[in-house]
Amino acid sequence: MILLIRPTKPVLPPYDEYIAEIKSIWQTGFMTNNGPKLKEFKRLLQEYTDCPNLDLFVNGHSALVTALKSLELKGEVITSPFTFASTTNAIVQAGLTPVFCDIDDSYNIDADKIQACITDKTCAIVTPHIFGIPCDVEKIRAIADRHGLKVVYDAAQAFGTKLNGRHIVAYGDITMVSFHAIKIFNSIEGGMLVYKDSTLQKKFELYRNFGINYETSDIELCGYNAKMNEFQAAMGICNLNGIEAEIAKRHLLAECYAEKLSTIRGLTPFNYAADIRYNHAYYPIIVDEEAFGISRDDLHERLRERGIFTRKLYDRLTCDSAVHRGKYKQDVAHAEKISRRTLDLPIYGDLTAEDVASVIDEVAKIQKGG
Ligand SMILES: *Cc1c(COP(=O)(O)O)cnc(C)c1O
Repeated sequence: MILLIRPTKPVLPPYDEYIAEIKSIWQTGFMTNNGPKLKEFKRLLQEYTDCPNLDLFVNGHSALVTALKSLELKGEVITSPFTFASTTNAIVQAGLTPVFCDIDDSYNIDADKIQACITDKTCAIVTPHIFGIPCDVEKIRAIADRHGLKVVYDAAQAFGTKLNGRHIVAYGDITMVSFHAIKIFNSIEGGMLVYKDSTLQKKFELYRNFGINYETSDIELCGYNAKMNEFQAAMGICNLNGIEAEIAKRHLLAECYAEKLSTIRGLTPFNYAADIRYNHAYYPIIVDEEAFGISRDDLHERLRERGIFTRKLYDRLTCDSAVHRGKYKQDVAHAEKISRRTLDLPIYGDLTAEDVASVIDEVAKIQKGG
């Protein structure tokens, strides 16, 4: 039997629902610039996240750059290198200097190692909730308060994750979320900022629309174009209906993986805490080559030959990329180790328990040399 199990699959709403949602655009002629769909999407997100201060953008990356610029930060920013290109690029694009702190077994910044990275130039901690797994937000808040630092979370992958019964976006001074097509929740492309200080909204508005202040007809700052359009907002409105069901399906698949993986020596799933509502945007495992018998890279390749596509996120730390290598301070030994040993197994709502069983069956066969 030839299998084909993709690593991920974008969520699309029923076709008719999207068509019905965009129909009014032909009546109003409103395609972008803070139109009725965008306002409706924003209201629904405020309701869903229970966060009133929330703003929408064309994508997550420009939302993150806008967040950093709006805080008027200067100097060094403590961050994790175990992330997508965007986090580090945004820091540099906002004129800031990344300082790469190590991670722990949560795949996130090691809160106990942040202190050692702080200098008199440090202005903020900007770090992801990677794989939808929350950082130690309480420890990070305490350190930030002690040193007068801002905290900006890149929750691009963490929409729907809840901590202490609150959406993860409620933590930090500003949190960015991505609604890109391959994230757990999408508006085709899209981004959101959730923030504590409501006076920031004015700046977000300016940066997002060329810096133009329509009250004074003046260009107040060097803004760009980062507006979400009406077709994106309509997709977001439709997909929001399905987000809880998507997370519930992934939760069952994650339980299925954990049970099946317990029979396999040398592969360790993430240690999920009972009191956190994870979104299961990813399903990372650690491959212990000695115990499993085969390296992470070989397992990835052998699964691929059998039609099962896993991902090596993040095989390259951002501090080791051509653009950033050797330019900034880093102390990332554990991150390097994790980046060589972790593998993301396929997970998405349309995957079935049988698919999960097939993945683990093939893994078992590969381990036995079959
Ligand atoms: C996807 C992603 C981004 C960028 O979001 P876009 O909406 O694609 O611009 C930023 N950070 C992380 C960790 C991501 O996974």
